[in-house]
Amino acid sequence: MQKSANVVIIGGGIIGCSVAYELAIRGVKDVVVIEKNYLSSGATGRCGAGVRQQWGTETNAILARDSVKRFEGMNEELEYDKDIEFKQGGYLMVSYTSEEWNQYKKNVAVQHSLGIPTKMITPQEALEIVPHLNLKGLIGATFCQSDGHANPFHVVDAYYKAAKRLGVKFETYTTVTGITRDKGKVTSVQTTRGDINTSLVINACGYAAGTICKMVDFDLPLYPQRHQALVTEPVEPCQGPMVISLHYRLYCQQTPHGSFIMGVGDPNEPKDFNINSSWEFLEDVARQATTVLPLLKNLRVVRQWSGLYDMSPDANPILDKVPGAEGMWVAAGFSGHGFMVAPQTAVLLVQKILEQECFMPIERFSLNRFSGGNLVLESAVV
Ligand code: FAD
Repeated sequence: MQKSANVVIIGGGIIGCSVAYELAIRGVKDVVVIEKNYLSSGATGRCGAGVRQQWGTETNAILARDSVKRFEGMNEELEYDKDIEFKQGGYLMVSYTSEEWNQYKKNVAVQHSLGIPTKMITPQEALEIVPHLNLKGLIGATFCQSDGHANPFHVVDAYYKAAKRLGVKFETYTTVTGITRDKGKVTSVQTTRGDINTSLVINACGYAAGTICKMVDFDLPLYPQRHQALVTEPVEPCQGPMVISLHYRLYCQQTPHGSFIMGVGDPNEPKDFNINSSWEFLEDVARQATTVLPLLKNLRVVRQWSGLYDMSPDANPILDKVPGAEGMWVAAGFSGHGFMVAPQTAVLLVQKILEQECFMPIERFSLNRFSGGNLVLESAVV
């Protein structure tokens, strides 16, 4: 393995790979990505891969809105030899409580102010979009046709190949074990396959970003939280959009191959690194999914798995320099929606690092927002 690099990116998920590409396409040479397993082995390869612009905070909505544009042209932009399978079947966010419906109205106002074409629709209109939706108790729904989902393995593969063509090196099955500083400045990264001298480190370790920050004695305000998902047998296409119910903590989509992928969030999950699959999840997701989408009761489950959300206190990303370690940056805290915002998150971070004009104010993702006491919480996390 090489002994030095201009930039060391730690983490080979969607964030590490997209940041590597955005650096390389701007002419930065000698970039290396260090990944302890294989690319996409973290949250990225375990995610629902939904892409939605229907957020409650302006920050998440801008990143998602602009990332949708990138997903739309990604095969061509990255000259991908396969297909990232970005399908814009829309997102239908259903509401079964008045509290939730009031929140949706506020969220849609934010989305409209940013030009996101979300519609507020009646239960009958929702039924026309998803005919097997449970109407009982449904107050209304919001729908955005340009939301959708993509194949996370292919998206990472596309970034990987494009970055590699531009000279980026990828070192997989290599774990970062330490970071050395001299007078507060980063000087090298220790790995299980040798040290790499560098003055610029980007921590894109998702759920493990806190562990990496501890290597330079910084406590990142972030915690890991297990989220489980499952996939069913494939069936004839019958559901275009992703269906989300915040009340039932459910998201559920049918993939282009016919399988349904779904998950439920569990607010009582402990803040730890456990990624075992559980029987309780199967019962929970079956209950919630068949309440919202009763037709699914006959589907057979093929596989279940879990991954870790990297949760920040306000469910917005953290894109900032790491205090006490000059030359080190962190891009984490994506709180369950890092896949969909990755393309523009990478652009924003790289613009800041290269001291270029940022397309939106990156200060909104700074670490010091947590000490100000004025956090704007994201309300639309499943
Ligand atoms: P990761 O993909 O976790 O990558 C971090 C990498 O760092 C890992 O590959 C890991 O192996 C590596 N690493 C860790 N420690 C070290 C070390 N010491 N040395 C070297 N490498 C190291 N997001 C969406 O946008 N839409 C969704 O529908 C969605 N659904 C989800 C469903 C589930 C079940 C889960 C778990 C997540 C979901 N997410 C979704 C969230 C999304 O997966 C993440 O926000 C996103 O993948 C984060 O990407 P990342 O590159 O930051 O992290």
